[in-house]
Amino acid sequence: MLAASASLLNIKVVILDVGEHSPAKQILAPTDPKFTHIDGSFKDPEKILQLSEKVDVLTVEIEHVDVDILDKVAQSRRVQIHPSPSTIRVIQDKYNQKIHLQKAGIAVAEFLKIPEPTPEAVHAAMDKLGLPLMIKSRTLAYDGRGNFVLRHASEIEEALATLKDRPLYAEKWVKFEREIAVMVVRTVNGTVTSYPAVETVHKDNICLLTFAPLRSPDPATIENARRLAESAVLTFEGAGIFGVEMFQLLDGTLYVNEIAPRPHNSGHYTIEACETSQFENHLRAILNLPLGSTALKVPSSVMLNLIGGSNDMSQLTSFVGYALNVPGAAIHMYGKTECRGGRKMGHITIVGDSDAQVNDRLRPLLTQLPIPMS
Ligand code: ADP
Ligand code: MG
Repeated sequence: MLAASASLLNIKVVILDVGEHSPAKQILAPTDPKFTHIDGSFKDPEKILQLSEKVDVLTVEIEHVDVDILDKVAQSRRVQIHPSPSTIRVIQDKYNQKIHLQKAGIAVAEFLKIPEPTPEAVHAAMDKLGLPLMIKSRTLAYDGRGNFVLRHASEIEEALATLKDRPLYAEKWVKFEREIAVMVVRTVNGTVTSYPAVETVHKDNICLLTFAPLRSPDPATIENARRLAESAVLTFEGAGIFGVEMFQLLDGTLYVNEIAPRPHNSGHYTIEACETSQFENHLRAILNLPLGSTALKVPSSVMLNLIGGSNDMSQLTSFVGYALNVPGAAIHMYGKTECRGGRKMGHITIVGDSDAQVNDRLRPLLTQLPIPMS
């Protein structure tokens, strides 16, 4: 989606990713031998170095990259890196991210380090924070892969086996009323602008739906969420778009859950529903171009993730065939070659004149989803 936005602005992009036909490379055919894409891992320092030699500005769409080499590239000052490697480094370790936010006075749920992945250490965290307890992998976590909800002490061994030998920390269980997300765009001068607050609905720790704007009866929550998200992003360095995930409690209290230093799933709705998409504003921010408006241009929208139900892509294909009949629905398939259970394969955004109309358009789709709804 970033590639598609760049293409519309005639911005030349070189992609580093595994596979000759990875999704972004399918969008951008190089027109100049200087701009050929690189096949390799975004964790491979050699490949990142190769990429840095081809570009003026380097950005990431995932935080699990090799930061040591980004630091070295940044020191050379030939290439600008956004967001800054220091930001990526802090964010890629969820425990360090929480410490960073807490020190900056940003509200977060209570959390504790699990010094080593042993039953005793998990037990100690459980004694302090109670049950249920959210055990999280500090690194390499995404789409709930890296979280374990401990409901009883007897599940500690299972939690450790599931999360393997990864560095862990524990979070107090948050009985949230709803999950809110706000996309914030930060300029090279360090000023921030935010998109409207949205509600995200997760199933099995994976985002399934995003309702925009926030369907909250309380206008103060909308403003508070934007303000909290902006304050959180102001504590980081470097330009670009950031996704801020929050929990809202029944009394309106907001906690930051986590921050993504990149375009984020909860901002996909911006492609159809806002004046400027998160992808275009990310490009504008990192290239020091004027930002586009973050305002909604439709009264209501919902984004539905297309999550693989199994290895069988045909289930999703027939679902998409069905979605083609829904008015106001825009389909985005990502061109991933392999479908897997729990993998995000695409999304659909539905826009409408009112929340009620969007609900009416969404309802039949939910009954056809290839994953079981609970
Ligand atoms: P990921 O990196 O996989 O997105 P998150 O930390 O955002 O991991 O957790 C995924 C989801 O799990 C959240 O969106 C929320 O629904 C739930 N969750 C995370 N932390 C807590 C918590 N402390 N209490 C209750 N639910 C949580
Ligand atoms: Mg998350």
